[in-house]
Amino acid sequence: MTSAWEVMRLSLPKPVEKAFKRLESCGFCGYLVGGCVRDYLLNTPPTDFDMTTDATPAEMIACFAGYRVLETGIRHGTVTVIIDGMAIEMTTHRIEGDYSDSRHPDAVQFTRNLVDDLARRDFTINAIAYHPQKGLIDHYGGVADIKKKIIRGVGDPHKRMTEDALRILRGLRFAAVLGFALEGQTQRAIRQNCGQLANISAERIAAELNKLICGKNVKAIILEETAVLGVVIPELLPAKNFEQQSPYHCYDVLTHTAVAMETLAPLPRLRWAMLFHDLGKPQTFTRDAAGVGHFKGHSKCSEVIARERLRALRISKVTIDQVGLLVKYHGVHIDVDKKSVKRWLNRLSEPLFRDLIAIKRGDNLAKASKYHSRLESLQRLEALLDQVIAEKACFSLKDLAVNGHDLIGLGIKNGEEIGRILKLLLTGVIDEVYQNEKEVLIEKAKELRRC
Ligand code: ATP
Ligand code: MG
Repeated sequence: MTSAWEVMRLSLPKPVEKAFKRLESCGFCGYLVGGCVRDYLLNTPPTDFDMTTDATPAEMIACFAGYRVLETGIRHGTVTVIIDGMAIEMTTHRIEGDYSDSRHPDAVQFTRNLVDDLARRDFTINAIAYHPQKGLIDHYGGVADIKKKIIRGVGDPHKRMTEDALRILRGLRFAAVLGFALEGQTQRAIRQNCGQLANISAERIAAELNKLICGKNVKAIILEETAVLGVVIPELLPAKNFEQQSPYHCYDVLTHTAVAMETLAPLPRLRWAMLFHDLGKPQTFTRDAAGVGHFKGHSKCSEVIARERLRALRISKVTIDQVGLLVKYHGVHIDVDKKSVKRWLNRLSEPLFRDLIAIKRGDNLAKASKYHSRLESLQRLEALLDQVIAEKACFSLKDLAVNGHDLIGLGIKNGEEIGRILKLLLTGVIDEVYQNEKEVLIEKAKELRRC
């Protein structure tokens, strides 16, 4: 029953071939394992190469003498070998002891046996090893699961999820990114143990969520596994099945959110912004006399939720601010004229303004189709934006034909006064009241000075 895949030869990058040869010349055996093998089988170019080997860390260090070897996780048996500029992570075959905190194994034991190492891995699709001469080593049915597009825990899924609760999110992440289904028992184990996510560090959760939200199948995971994700982002829970009771909407809040997310490019800040953009709705819901639902102030409320949750996940401050602004402004009306475009460019900068347009477009696409006509005005807005950028129009202080030094030259010494005048000049230029020319602005500055 050898399939074409089992005898297949993968075309490996030169540095990886060198690593195999060097290990062999030292009397050891290495295998590619985990994500890179999975990605090869899915015809996706692997991004990084992990190997597992029967050599101990000390033996690897000796074997790769002459190469740069970083002791990245010696206690866990991991070193990183740099070969021709490529970082290859190599880990000694390992058996993990008991987990008493659903995070860290109490003891790590090295083994010379590959199959024992594969048994400790999270999902069958990640527990396939590859050797150039031996082919694929697949003791847990990972190849079949890749073909069936299934995420299945290695061994007893319940035990695997309780050992390390991060696997709960990893399972959802792989399902969202690869578009695979969760096998029944694995799904049950994920749901039953989701409370243990509280034991996992914010950074590890954030790393998984950043990938999950960018998945091509994020909608299904958000809608089907809301209870699990709700352990980390509780505001998802009331959004589920929250009917909007408005002619603008054809979906409940969470479905609208999930549908809108999939319209966006897979960039974390865009996807985060869309995830949060309406989560303030359940808290701000009112119904008018005609029975129509309204959500006055929901953008502000969603922004507060976004900032709070992202801060708790230790997401970078820059990203939190970008997401916060996108959530805050997702529903504002933007006039489709050049002055308005320049004001928004000044407020957000070009990349974030483009993101805002993408968010507004996605938000509209996930509404009742009779309101899709608004998409046309977003298209005109984007065309104007392109034009303003192409014309190199002035919309920020750095584009202004005068600067602080010029004002100091006029004898204005006070920093605050200089700032105030520059801001007024910029507003005048953006609003096309003044030309962005040095002589014009110097004259205006003289008029605007207070002292
Ligand atoms: P990615 O494409 O994100 O790199 P990956 O599967 O390579 O996905 P890594 O975090 O790089 O994920 O881990 C490499 C391999 O180590 C996994 O494929 C899996 O075999 C194993 N692994 C990683 N994290 C865990 C875990 N929490 N529990 C069990 N095995 C794990
Ligand atoms: Mg990897």
